[in-house]
Amino acid sequence: MMKINEAVGTYPYSVSFEVFPPKKKENMDSVVSAAKRIAALKPAFMSVTYGAGGGTSDYTIEITKDLQNEMGVPAMAHLSCITSDRETIDRQLTRMKAEGIQNILALRGDIPEGFSPSAINYHHAIELVRKIKEFDPDFCIAGACYPETHPEADSMQEDIRFLKEKVDAGMDFLITQMFFDNPVFYSYMYQLREAGIMVPVHPGIMPIVNKAQVKRTLNLAGCQLPTRFRRILDTFGSSREAMRQAGIAYATDQIIDLFANGFKTVHVYSMNDPGVAEAIMNNLSKIIM
Ligand code: FAD
Repeated sequence: MMKINEAVGTYPYSVSFEVFPPKKKENMDSVVSAAKRIAALKPAFMSVTYGAGGGTSDYTIEITKDLQNEMGVPAMAHLSCITSDRETIDRQLTRMKAEGIQNILALRGDIPEGFSPSAINYHHAIELVRKIKEFDPDFCIAGACYPETHPEADSMQEDIRFLKEKVDAGMDFLITQMFFDNPVFYSYMYQLREAGIMVPVHPGIMPIVNKAQVKRTLNLAGCQLPTRFRRILDTFGSSREAMRQAGIAYATDQIIDLFANGFKTVHVYSMNDPGVAEAIMNNLSKIIM
């Protein structure tokens, strides 16, 4: 099974998908079957979140392993460190290694309200990257970055300075937070390259398929919706079917524009919805052949 940084190089244009684990054990089967339907589309890779998007972290490794071993899709396990003590991180890495997982998205994680990290926790993703490198330098490590600046950062410059340190600690590639306005990403890329951050950056695209998703996602991610998309929401937001079609079309349009501007990899936040993943792959069928 290939490392992701090697696997994506074999495609002229590639699409990958993120899925999240269930909150409860009884929903595991339906999540696994959705993830496998997405895997059957043969994306360049898939990633499985760690306690984000409503799921718990308990099943991340299990789903990642199934995707790579049963479905033959390169898969990446997210691992966030802020609420896990160092012992738990050690255990997770040991398990990943034993299960043959080679790709990790190393994250700090969001700080839950009222939680104060102590000496038993890592405080920033860079510490987790160093830990993974020390544990096994052979892991392919990815990290998160923010075209509209991480919500806690004082400035874009400061955020990029910390990002450079994080990448230099041993990251192989980056995946961006979702954005809805491609020029924002293009300008960010220019700043990253100016700062000497030269690793591949996979733009993250979130198809918005219903109005409720907007508030939930944007609050969390701290990103802006351009007027063009607001008009789509205002016009089609009240019809479930129309909004779904318009949201998929908008995301497809963003992806085609990214490809046309020289970016060859796109990571889609598929929200465990195989229908969305299928529609996107179908819309790109003659592009990513
Ligand atoms: P960091 O890189 O540690 O950065 C966090 C903040 O600290 C930034 O403001 C940064 O500028 C600052 N900073 C960084 N280093 C330092 C330093 N050395 N000193 C001082 N300040 C510093 N969350 C989950 O819980 N589970 C997931 O599966 C998950 N998947 C994600 C996938 C992607 C692609 C993205 C973009 C985000 C994901 N998140 C996930 C959310 C992520 O955990 C949050 O955005 C979190 O707030 C920051 O994580 P980070 O790894 O970017 O943190």
